[in-house]
Amino acid sequence: MSLRTHLPLFNKTETPFYFYDLALLKETLHAIKKAAPKEYHIHYALKANANPTLLSYIQQARFGADCVSGNEIKQAISSGFSPEKIVFAGVGKSDKEIEYALAQPIFCFNVESIHELQIINELAAKQQVTASVALRINPNVDAYTHKYITTGLEENKFGINPYEFDAIVQEIPSLKHIQVIGLHFHIGSQITELAPFKKLCLKINELNKWFTQKGLDIRHINVGGGLGINYQEPDKEALVNFESYFSVFKQFLTLAPNQEVHFELGRSVVGPCGSLISRVLYIKKGLNTNFAILDAGMTDLIRPALYQAYHKIENVSAVLSEPLVRYDVVGPICESSDCFGKAVMLPQTQRGDMIAIRSAGAYGEVMSSNYNLREKTKSVFVE
Ligand SMILES: *Cc1c(COP(=O)(O)O)cnc(C)c1O
Repeated sequence: MSLRTHLPLFNKTETPFYFYDLALLKETLHAIKKAAPKEYHIHYALKANANPTLLSYIQQARFGADCVSGNEIKQAISSGFSPEKIVFAGVGKSDKEIEYALAQPIFCFNVESIHELQIINELAAKQQVTASVALRINPNVDAYTHKYITTGLEENKFGINPYEFDAIVQEIPSLKHIQVIGLHFHIGSQITELAPFKKLCLKINELNKWFTQKGLDIRHINVGGGLGINYQEPDKEALVNFESYFSVFKQFLTLAPNQEVHFELGRSVVGPCGSLISRVLYIKKGLNTNFAILDAGMTDLIRPALYQAYHKIENVSAVLSEPLVRYDVVGPICESSDCFGKAVMLPQTQRGDMIAIRSAGAYGEVMSSNYNLREKTKSVFVE
């Protein structure tokens, strides 16, 4: 449904705010469940958006959770996710976070280094429990995405590298409070081609075989997340093609009969259903361009400033038949990078117009800050 239909709601709401289309979220959750075979376990990556309203919908669809901090685990549990469906990843888990996760207990720690494995073993010994872990392997697969969101290459801080495999396999039997139950992978984010996922599958097949031969009982393969969304044309492709995504794994992942597959989807679950809605405060005429100055800024949505991310920008109020004019769409923050889009073609725009910054449901609200002592970004939902 066009955002224009919600203009009366936008006009009477204090801006800026995140607008979430819960019908689209529901449709997305349904599409994922329909496309995924029964033996595929889907964890929602809370770091994409931890808004409690969204979490309650995702939890009701019986997804598990992928958490990267103790507080995300707390938030997942308080939103109704069951601890036995929670995986805990991250290169720098603190002792306090590990102790908390052990006490739940959660399904699995995704462990990123030999040193971390030793520390989890010590902390589990203190609680007299055994920690279930998956080894996060750096598969050295290039996801061809932005360098800040590529995670599966060797020079990355994430995961255990091939040159450490022998050492870790030797170490594991001495760690009495660790049970290795899986292998974990994640090659990056906003991946819109399926080829990197195919490459990942082929790499996993090799590694699965190697670790099994070394005597590890690999019960699950966690392939991570990273499926991208269409930022260019959000209305044309509001739903990601989950069928073709899962079919890559069905086709190329070779599993032993008892092995499960786990996924950690973030962006593709919540990205399309959110827009940042903002009012135009001022129009400033430049020599070569005009500036549309919004009441939303990088404190509400940092992706463009942080990694030159593209978001489609629409003037929801303007008359569509107006000739298009070129604007740099910027926020009010005292930073030059506080810019949502350069040379954006919009219908003639004026003070008070409602601007929608689309596809902002993932890594938007959750990354907002109160820099400049700005108000916390609000959220509005429609069914
Ligand atoms: C960020 C992250 C995810 C989710 O990634 P999306 O691109 O949002 O699907 C999944 N797993 C791990 C380990 C991550 O770091």
